[in-house]
Order: sequence, then C-alpha cells, then structure tokens
Amino acid sequence: MTMEKFDHKITTFGIRNRILIFALVATLIPSLGLGWAFYTQTQKLLQENVELELHSIINRAQREADLWFKENTVNMRVFSNSFVISENLEQFTNLNQRQESNTTEQMATTIAILSEYLMLVQSQFHEYKQLLLLDGTGKIITKSNNNNNNNNNNTPFALPDNWEEQLAQHKMIIGETDTNGASTEATFLLAIPVYSHKQEILGLLATEVSLNGLQSVMKSVAISQSTKLSLLHRDGSILGSTIQADTTERPTHSKNNSLKKLYTNPMKLSTYIDGNDKKVVGVVAHLPHLSWGILMEKDYDLVFAEVQKLKNITLLIIATLLAFTGIAAFFLSYSILSPLKQLIKGAMQVADGDLNVTLPVKNRDELGFTISVFNDMVVRLRKSHDELEILATVDSLTGLTNRNHLMGTLALHIKRYARHRVPFSILMADLDHFKQVNDNYGHLAGDAVLRRVGKIFDETLRSIDTAGRYGGEEFLIILDSTGEQEAEQTAERIRKTVEESRITRDGKTIQVTISFGVATICDMMSMDDGQLIGMADKALYEAKQQGRNRTVVSSTQISE
Ligand code: GH3
Ligand code: MG
Ligand code: MG
Repeated sequence: MTMEKFDHKITTFGIRNRILIFALVATLIPSLGLGWAFYTQTQKLLQENVELELHSIINRAQREADLWFKENTVNMRVFSNSFVISENLEQFTNLNQRQESNTTEQMATTIAILSEYLMLVQSQFHEYKQLLLLDGTGKIITKSNNNNNNNNNNTPFALPDNWEEQLAQHKMIIGETDTNGASTEATFLLAIPVYSHKQEILGLLATEVSLNGLQSVMKSVAISQSTKLSLLHRDGSILGSTIQADTTERPTHSKNNSLKKLYTNPMKLSTYIDGNDKKVVGVVAHLPHLSWGILMEKDYDLVFAEVQKLKNITLLIIATLLAFTGIAAFFLSYSILSPLKQLIKGAMQVADGDLNVTLPVKNRDELGFTISVFNDMVVRLRKSHDELEILATVDSLTGLTNRNHLMGTLALHIKRYARHRVPFSILMADLDHFKQVNDNYGHLAGDAVLRRVGKIFDETLRSIDTAGRYGGEEFLIILDSTGEQEAEQTAERIRKTVEESRITRDGKTIQVTISFGVATICDMMSMDDGQLIGMADKALYEAKQQGRNRTVVSSTQISE
C-alpha cells in the first residue's frame, strides 16, 4: 500500500469550512431575524407616534383655520349688512332700473359713497386685497381701489361657475382667485349677499382675502422646531411655511407631484422627498371651503432616529456575534481537526508499512478514545506482524533460521561477495546415525537432540553468523567474513562441543556426533548458491565416507 492511494487532498471543503459556515449561518439567521423584527416593530411604533403627534397638531391648525375663516365671513356679513351698503345699493338699483337721464348724477354720487365706504373698510383690514360691490348678475358696480390705476385694479374678477348655486345653499360664495403667478400672495374670493330691507338680494359684497393672515395663525400652532406647517394648494404648490419664512429661494409655486398625491389622501401619513431634497414625513388636512390644505412635515431622520440607532446597534451586535462565533468555530474545528489530522497521518504511516507509530492522547473525549484505540490497534498489528515474521523466518523446532530464510541470507552473502569481495564460508552439517537415535530413544528424544544441537550452534557462533535448519537433521551455517581455515576451526569447535554434550532422556543418556563439510566462496565459482552448497555437500559426503564425526574442507579442485 502506498501514500498515493490517499493523495486526494482533504482541504477542498473540509470540516473546518463546514463548521465555520454552520456557525455563521446559525448566528446570522436568528440575529438578522430578531433584528428585523425589532426594526420593523420600532419603525411601526415611531410611525404611530408621529402620526398621533402630527394629527393632533394638524387638527389644531385646522380648527384655528376654521375660526379664522369664520371670522372673515362674519366680518364680511357685518359690512354687507351695514346701512351704508344696503341703503345705497338699494338706491343705486332703483335708479338703475328706471334708466332715466336725470338719474346719472345721482347714481354717480351713490357709487362714490359706496366706493368710499369700501376703501374705508379695506384700509382697516389689510387681509382684504380689494373689496368689490357686484350687482345681482355678478357685474362689478364699484371697487375699493377704483381710483388707483395699478395692476391689481385691472385684474379680471370672475365669480366661480356655480356661484348662484353656492349663494342659494350657503348664502355666500367662495372661489379661487387667479393670481397667475403675478402675485406672491395667495388669495381666495369671498362674496356675501347684500339684502334690501325686504330681504331681497340687491348684489354681492366680494373681496379677495389674503392667506397671509392664515399663515400667521398657523405659526402659533407649530410648536416644535422640527415640525413645519405650510399651506398646500391642491395642485401641489406650497405657500410659504412657518419655519422657512426667511428662505427666499424656496420654490413657492413649484408643483410637487408627491405633495399633490398627499393632498388627495388627507390625514394619511406618507414619506417623500421635499422641495429641498430632504426626506420628510408629511400629512395634509383640507381646509373647509377652500382648495387649500394644511401641510404638516417633519424631518424623517429626526422621526426615525431611534430606528437608525437600533439598526446601528443591531449591526454592531451581529458583527460582534459573528466575530465571537467565528473564533469559537475556529477553535472548535481546531480541537477536532488537530487530533484528526494526527490520526490521518498515523493511519497513512501504518498504511505505508511503518508500524512504529504511537499518537499522543491529549484529550479524554471521543477523539482521544479513538486515538487510544488506534494506538492499541497498531500495537496489536505490530505484535502479529512480528509473530508472522518469526513464523516466516524461524524453524519452530530448533529456533534456528528456516531453510527459506537461510537461502535468502546466503543469496545476500553471495551478492555482497560479488560486489565487495567480502569472503565467507558455509558449513554443511549432518548428525551421524540419527535414524538410530530415533529408533533407540524415540522420535521425541530425537527432537530434543535437534533442539540441543540448535542451542549449541547458537552459543558457539558469532552474532554475524547465521545457522539454519536445512532439512531433517541437516544444517547449514553461514560464517560471515570467514576464510577457509577459520571456517574449519569453527566446524571443529562445534563438532567437539556436540560430541562432548550429553542429553538425558527417561534416565537414558544420549550422545550424538556430527559431520561437517566446509566450502569457502572464491572468484572461480559461479555466483549462484547452487555451486557453493554442492561443494559443501560433497565435503560432508566425504566426511561421512571417512567414518563420520569429522570435518572435511572442500577444495576448489574437488569441483572439477
Ligand atoms: P547418516 O549418518 O548417514 O546421516 O545416517 P542417518 O541415520 O543420520 O541418516 P538417514 O538419512 O538415513 O536418517 C535421517 C533420519 O533423521 C531419518 C529421520 O527419521 C530422522 N529425522 C529427520 N527429521 C527429524 C526430525 O525432525 N525429528 C526426528 N526425531 N527425527 C528426524
Ligand atoms: Mg541426513
Ligand atoms: Mg544423518
């Protein structure tokens, strides 16, 4: 197994990102939801408050306007009922009806008296732009500024189309005056009937009333600095205002569509951009009898300052929450990922064949438990691996290297010689008449002898040498960096030790001898294990032939 198998990177959309996203979503959804709920609730509350406030002020303004209007009509009624007017108008009407030539002078006198009276009244009441006396058909008889030859004098004076209807119903006529933008002063027309002593209508006393008077009335109503009262014409144009009276640039007659809309929805609060490009909340109340309304405006930012504050606080809280949860999510993911990464690294090491892995257990949580299980698993794996290795390389009876492993070691030695010329020798050993041992003492005793011989090899050889069981009661010993002579001496030493050793079995003493064939590697040989083993075998055969319990060294000449 190689690392490549695990090479796909775990970083594409890992646990850390998922935890982070979860934390952010889990923070954002409730906080934004709550924030939104608070925001809309507060906005609604403030809207209701400002609606209440504006309605109460505008109602007051409306009442004041009503009073002002009534005052004007009462005044006009007083003048129209005055003796001077009714008497002279009656006389004028009579003279006019007679159409006699001698009445012209008389008529002129009457008109002069009437005109003088009108002028007198106008001089007392500045709100009346001009006073006129009309006959029963609406034609002008005389006016207050008859003698002045200014522009106002020539202003055509038109009664509203439905004036007769109004007269019959309300006993007065109210109409619009067409200022045509020539005058900055807005006015309206008010006409009151003049009655004869028989209660017949003789004519009309009409006047143009300036709305300036109404404006000063409203100034006393608008108490707070932030509220602004203005007169609004139904076409959307504004006539001055209580607060911005000093502003000369104010577009007094410019028509505003949102204001027009506002006029058509009286007492309804709306938000819009005013003539000074400012966001405001406004409400309109219609003035009775007139095509004007009272417009009340309040600065939007001022009204909803609390909402703005709440919005800012909410955003700040959300940002803080996000920062906290972000940091918490980071540490959480770190606490999970750090041991997990260790585990992954360890598992990859194991997969790569390295069983010397022990991971540190830092926490006693599930991950810590998983790591200790992993460690335990690796220990077991290592143990069974070692056991398998022993099984694969060691002969179970004698504890010596088995034949398979022995041949591998021999091949390695030959390779090393071929490359570095490190000499070595092999000893082929066979127990003498071992069949008899089995026959005389039993197979188990034979096994015990084999074990003892293995132990003798182990004790007499150096750690760099390898002794293995070649088969049955035959052994092969590889003597590292050992020449022929030294090898012979080693064989002799072992042979003597075996000969001298005694094995006691069931009260019987067993003695065995061993024969050796020695072969040393040299340049003339082919570099495979067959020739070397063949030579040692041959030498062993010689030893057996020569009477056993001896060592025979193979000479290169033997292999001819
Ligand atoms: P020689 O001196 O010619 O080698 O005579 P020998 O009797 O030793 O030779 P032979 O090859 O005829 O007999 C070998 C015997 O070794 C036969 C077999 O029963 C015995 N043997 C082989 N392996 C084992 C073993 O594992 N345990 C026991 N107890 N005996 C074994
Ligand atoms: Mg044998
Ligand atoms: Mg034998």
